[in-house]
Amino acid sequence: MKTEKITCNACLAHAEKDVRFEAREIEHGENEVLVKVSSGGICGSDIHYYQHGRAGMSVLKHPMVIGHEFVGVISKVPANSQLKVGQTVAVNPSCPCNQCEMCLSGHQNLCSSMRFMGSAQFNPHVNGGFSEYVVVKPEQCIPYDSTIPANVMAFSEPLAVAIHAVKVAGQLTGKRVLVIGAGPIGCLILAAARSAGASELVASDLSPRCLDLARQMGATATMNPLDEQQVAHYQQNRGYFDVVFEASGAQAAVASTVDFTRPAGTVVQVGMGASPVNWPVSSMLVKEISWAGSFRFISEFETAVRWLEDGRVDPRPLISAEFPPQQIEEALITATDKNVSAKVLIRFD
Ligand SMILES: [Zn+2]
Ligand SMILES: [Zn+2]
Repeated sequence: MKTEKITCNACLAHAEKDVRFEAREIEHGENEVLVKVSSGGICGSDIHYYQHGRAGMSVLKHPMVIGHEFVGVISKVPANSQLKVGQTVAVNPSCPCNQCEMCLSGHQNLCSSMRFMGSAQFNPHVNGGFSEYVVVKPEQCIPYDSTIPANVMAFSEPLAVAIHAVKVAGQLTGKRVLVIGAGPIGCLILAAARSAGASELVASDLSPRCLDLARQMGATATMNPLDEQQVAHYQQNRGYFDVVFEASGAQAAVASTVDFTRPAGTVVQVGMGASPVNWPVSSMLVKEISWAGSFRFISEFETAVRWLEDGRVDPRPLISAEFPPQQIEEALITATDKNVSAKVLIRFD
């Protein structure tokens, strides 16, 4: 395969509290697409690589380009490709192997050799999208209407996570839904669940700022989990909600889901919890509650692009700040402060 080398600047996480916007060389093969990045959203894992040099089990062993939520404009395409130079594209950061049992049975999100951009799970790490240019496979590129602002389409990846969680929950038409944790993912789940026909959407969070955003994103009511009266109201008669999405990962929140869920209801776990939880096994059993995990997304990425394109979901209330890539460290510090930030974006042009 013929390859070409270009030099461009990228946001590299070197180690804990060491991130740099610096020049690096990238290789572009003749069967690959070169994308000039325009906008990217900072996600929890990017913050973890910066703050701790690791995200969960994935530890930084060498400098890695961070970022997996990004969009851009095509600058080179393989010969005979359907894609065109100048097209605006959302880039799907997943590269499943497409050969393992999970991939072949339609569960590409569970592929054990998934190469996810901006992840240090494997060594060498898979570089991410916070770079002036990125090299990706044609199938990762989803073209979108160029009149849609890049900072709106940069939500395609987190929205895909939300739409997948809604799919895991099953039919939502006419259902009462609770979303615990009103960060960007929780708020996008509210928007996706509303679009899927839920009749009542309650958001729970400790932060009044997050609850305000939740209302803007589709919540019909909000709850403070420390307000005993509100909690009792939603836990009476063996639980009020048909479906509970847990998007905080906090121990107490995860344990509370069973009491909020009515018999035969469903709990979908989306928040990544670091610690083990005391799970109320007996009430879960006698209420026949289904407990389901939801991880990343599959074809929901394309759905997310279409929903942002047609305005079915407007993520703009979630944008807290935008920084140029030269200020990546300041952007990461701002994104870490949950008292002030929902989604922080990097603006490349
Ligand atoms: Zn993300
Ligand atoms: Zn696979």
